[in-house]
Amino acid sequence: MQSFGARLVDPKAGHESRRGGAGPSDHKALTIDGMTVMVPVHTAPAFESPYVVEKPDEAGKSRISRDGKVLGEVSFPLRPRFYERSTADGIPFSQIAVLHGRDVLATTVLQTCIRYQSRTKTCQFCAIGQSLAAGRTIAHKTPAQLAEVAKAAVELDGVKHMVMTTGTPRGDDRGAAVLAESARAIKAAVDLPIQGQCEPPEDDVWFERMKEGGIDTLGMHLEAVTPEIRARIMPGKAQVPVEKYMRSFEAAVKVFGRGQVSTYILAGLGDTREAILEICEQLVALGVYPFVVPFVPISGTPLESHPTPTPAFMHSILEPLSRMLIDSGLKAVDIKAGCGKCGACSALSTYERRLTA
Ligand code: SF4
Repeated sequence: MQSFGARLVDPKAGHESRRGGAGPSDHKALTIDGMTVMVPVHTAPAFESPYVVEKPDEAGKSRISRDGKVLGEVSFPLRPRFYERSTADGIPFSQIAVLHGRDVLATTVLQTCIRYQSRTKTCQFCAIGQSLAAGRTIAHKTPAQLAEVAKAAVELDGVKHMVMTTGTPRGDDRGAAVLAESARAIKAAVDLPIQGQCEPPEDDVWFERMKEGGIDTLGMHLEAVTPEIRARIMPGKAQVPVEKYMRSFEAAVKVFGRGQVSTYILAGLGDTREAILEICEQLVALGVYPFVVPFVPISGTPLESHPTPTPAFMHSILEPLSRMLIDSGLKAVDIKAGCGKCGACSALSTYERRLTA
């Protein structure tokens, strides 16, 4: 279903879906058999998906069917209560951070990015500027605002961990400074495990600084792994070579620990199965969790009509990858915070659970 997406008979069902934002989005969270997964709903492939989610009943439950055959029951997480509040300076909390999956608070601290200035340099899949242009978010969330929202999200909605990503600012820290500063304020307000996500900082000293600031886990996202694909899909970010990422991963694992450093790999952008699995092997050997997710195109981006990977392609990667992870003792359940722990954007943790059940 993550490859095909789902058609919603009632597009307003459940709380708002993610549209635009940093990284992959245009999803809606659905809970199926107790598992919350992000399913593409606003994308072109989703409009032709064989999966149909019926209009929900009064209790918010819907049925999902494929080619007319009912497969099971799905529900939508309720609209979070913290969305009703505003910060002391009058900004709606929902413009500061949003709920991802079932219990993750997610924010993009800096909604601008040096890589987003021109369409020739921008990452082709990213919509970081779109939600800003549409007025759904603000450009820079201050540490005080983030702390206020995080505290409320824990108290009102029981969020369990937080993902803080950022557009890449000018400067050698690549966003590490603003992540450390934000984490410090959040941790002073509430006890909430935090994942920071940024490009590899120039100087490894930033890993210590982020950890001291209160970042528990770190994501540095390769997105694509083959040099030609990286250069085509993300010409700006590809200027940072994979080798630099690997050196940074090694240094970051020393600070955050095995399995607490991760990377996001978007399958379906042109990397072969072999290329993805080969780099995953290297990453796992370093103690890095490779979170491989199916690419989901976002409306309004240059890749909006790019096809999604087939279920067979995803299976051919996730099955051996989950074995590799279990054999090396790197499991999603052991991650303290972040995308790998949430797991809603990929079936990877489901494969892991099947192997350990
Ligand atoms: S896996 Fe990451 S991006 Fe996907 S819903 Fe969870 S926290 Fe958000």
